[in-house]
Amino acid sequence: MGTRVSRNRRAAIAVLGAGLTGVATALELARRGVRVTLAEQDPRAVNRASLRNEGKIHLGLVYANDRTLATAQLQLEGALSFRSLLSRWIGPRADTLPLSTPFVYLVARDSILTVDQLEQHYAAVESLYREHVRHDPGIDYLGSRPTRLYERCPPGGVPQAFNMDHFIGGFLTQEVAIDTKALALALRDAVGESEGIDFLPEHKVLSVERANGLLRIEGTNPNGTWRIDADQVVNALWENRIAFDRMIGVNCPTGWVHRLKYRVVAQIPGKLRGGPSATMVLGPYGDVAVRADGTAYLSWYPIGLQGWTHEISPPAAWNSPCRGEIEEAKSRSLARDILGAIDARYPGMGESRPILVDAGAIVAYGKTDVDDASSALHDRTQIGVTSIEGYHSVDPGKLTTAPLFAKRAADHVCEFEAQR
Ligand SMILES: Cc1cc2nc3c(=O)[nH]c(=O)nc-3n(C[C@H](O)[C@H](O)[C@H](O)COP(=O)(O)OP(=O)(O)OC[C@H]3O[C@@H](n4cnc5c(N)ncnc54)[C@H](O)[C@@H]3O)c2cc1C
Repeated sequence: MGTRVSRNRRAAIAVLGAGLTGVATALELARRGVRVTLAEQDPRAVNRASLRNEGKIHLGLVYANDRTLATAQLQLEGALSFRSLLSRWIGPRADTLPLSTPFVYLVARDSILTVDQLEQHYAAVESLYREHVRHDPGIDYLGSRPTRLYERCPPGGVPQAFNMDHFIGGFLTQEVAIDTKALALALRDAVGESEGIDFLPEHKVLSVERANGLLRIEGTNPNGTWRIDADQVVNALWENRIAFDRMIGVNCPTGWVHRLKYRVVAQIPGKLRGGPSATMVLGPYGDVAVRADGTAYLSWYPIGLQGWTHEISPPAAWNSPCRGEIEEAKSRSLARDILGAIDARYPGMGESRPILVDAGAIVAYGKTDVDDASSALHDRTQIGVTSIEGYHSVDPGKLTTAPLFAKRAADHVCEFEAQR
């Protein structure tokens, strides 16, 4: 189990931020025998976006408006390595993460792409997928290697669960979501069990700078202030990442946007258990991920989107919902409105009993929202690891691609160490 540190300390490698990105980077380094200090502002690891998201492991289907296929290619790469990478860090628990039912893609009447255009994209993604599995027998999508990724529903053939007044077509897909709570528990256990990780909860990072050939990190904790001088730093701070990159002189692409998005997790009525999960495309719509335990993740973008900023970091007011702390009245009204919007499209879902309402920050690039076909939000290729002189900044892009880039960050750390 990691221990609390004295106020100032020396570390070989400091990883900042204990979401999936930071935890996976730390576990990968520890596995290679590299000692890591992992600093996190919250009392526990995996308490923010990596916990409070939908958990969909994207095959690239939703990024149909990036006609270059580059976003889909990255998501596929992440999805097809997700389970095997996780198993390096959490062992057999990676094989037993509870999965949602497969997603039906429902094409909204005012979708920014037509059913035919969407099908072209899905066919192209499927070809990419086939190439991947042909060339690499070791990869899988959460433990399986389906022969097809999608099937277009014939007219009148969309599952009856949905109200087709709102949709002009549908596709059955192989995409599923994992249970993010189960993932968080497994990752926290792995950090606790790792002898190579000094985990520092409640350590908020305030600054990073170069000092005397080292990287100096300073921050606050419940006892006051703390400082670490490290040989190398991995910045896995998600919505606060860009601010620290700027502080140390690392340039990231401009044009970022931070969005605050709420979700509802609810107990669904017995009659809907085992029903299809749904993604409504392509535009500002919603998702329902139906889980095996009788709960579902529900989101409706026009209601759930409660914050949008191009500032370098989101406002402090986002902190509470991103930690799961929401006033009762707000929680009730968001749940009612989101369930209502979903119920109109997925009848019966409105009878679900909300269990929790919380939020997460989404980091991406774009000036306009997803209803604009030319918005850069349809592209998620400006992601990955940027390394300069022992400082490594990781933009994982999505949960799907976080393990891929965490492993890459660990590679960069080891390469830098070998060159020193
Ligand atoms: C509502 C929602 C739905 C989503 N759905 C999906 C989906 O279905 N599929 C998908 O692939 N992706 C999805 N995403 C995106 C996904 O959640 C993120 O890409 C991913 O979780 C980011 O992981 P992370 O470890 O970088 O960030 P986080 O999990 O947020 O970890 C960052 C950590 O850094 C800590 N931190 C930040 N600032 C400081 C500081 N100053 N000092 C110390 N610690 C600090 C935070 O407390 C946090 O623990 C969704 C996101 C949201 C919000």
